[in-house]
Amino acid sequence: MTKMQEYMEQGEEYILKTYNRYPLVLEKGDGVYLYDMDGKRYLDFAAGIAVFALGYNNKEYNEALKNQIDKILHTSNLYYNRPAIDAAKKIVQTSGMSKVFFTNSGTEAIEGALKVARKYAYLKDPSKDYEFIAMNHSFHGRSQGALSVTGNAHYQDGFVPVEMRAVFADFNDLSDVESKITDKTCGIICEVVQGEGGIYPAKKEFLEGLRKMCDEKDILLIFDEVQCGMGRCGSLYAHDLYGVKPDVLALAKALGCGVPVGAFVTNEKASHALVPGDHGTTYGGNPFATAAVCEVFRQFEQKGIVEHVKKVGEYLYEKLEELRGEFPVITDHRGIGLMQGLEFKKPVGDLINKALNKGLIIISAGSNILRFVPPLVIEKKDVDEMTAILKESISEWN
Ligand SMILES: *Cc1c(COP(=O)(O)O)cnc(C)c1O
Repeated sequence: MTKMQEYMEQGEEYILKTYNRYPLVLEKGDGVYLYDMDGKRYLDFAAGIAVFALGYNNKEYNEALKNQIDKILHTSNLYYNRPAIDAAKKIVQTSGMSKVFFTNSGTEAIEGALKVARKYAYLKDPSKDYEFIAMNHSFHGRSQGALSVTGNAHYQDGFVPVEMRAVFADFNDLSDVESKITDKTCGIICEVVQGEGGIYPAKKEFLEGLRKMCDEKDILLIFDEVQCGMGRCGSLYAHDLYGVKPDVLALAKALGCGVPVGAFVTNEKASHALVPGDHGTTYGGNPFATAAVCEVFRQFEQKGIVEHVKKVGEYLYEKLEELRGEFPVITDHRGIGLMQGLEFKKPVGDLINKALNKGLIIISAGSNILRFVPPLVIEKKDVDEMTAILKESISEWN
């Protein structure tokens, strides 16, 4: 047994089994490559699930974090800290929103966003039990609040009582949403591009229609950009592509590029819903996590990451279209920027394992969709390398 196999066995022994993990222990990374304990190299097209946008072992990023470690890691939110203020200012200035609350995860960003919408409605009329409209096939996180708006019974059953669940409508179906609005609705939540649900971009008319409905009813529109935000779709925020603004925006994943940090961001109107005492977090927005956010924004600007994503995303699109033309087992191709999906006629589990053996890390979204969410710094040559491995893998698998 190799040392790596020994570790995997121990992982099974000591870590609660909520995942069926792929059989490798990742040890280090460099650029767009990852290495397992045996020193085998993998081209990474998953980025730790759309997180590591700037690539691995990014020297300036590492340096920024090391500098912060030597100053202070944590202060609590009872005091101000400079990185949190600098990071919040960046988010506000780039999004045109008004205020930021930092969290430790995407799930918590959603929890906070839901609280904002509930409180906004409560302030107008405290007598009602409010509810949300959320989308079928959405994913918003694993806590009970975030699960209550996650449109997937498989994730909800056994954890969220039926009466706690949101009202679900079909994504991109405006009349379905409209038919479900009642005087109890306090907010509508959706991803701008559905991630876990299978890489489905919103239609422009859909987001515009949601905006109009929310304005008419004076309820809050929440965009979950935990996965599709932070440059992934070729604009800093995915909703920028649509010209539709949310009242509350949820961010995480690539926001810290590896350090656990999320945020919910409110516009002027929604900013007044929460007052001191209404919400809090011990770790959220600590100087270590927010120093990472500051460095992410610095590199995004300095390296023109968003422009780069647009270009290399188009290249990826062309290459995946070629694959689709070549293999009839591929039934659809969707996505924007560096968030794309290929749908197959059958489950892709074995295909992913074949690719893994050939040194390509790629993930699925649902059982028969391959998801492409690589580090945002990938180049055309990386796309070529990925395509070559994938082509070989599909040929053998199919
Ligand atoms: C990953 C994800 C979440 C949950 O984020 P965590 O950091 O895992 O808590 C929420 N919404 C979307 C769209 C996501 O992709």
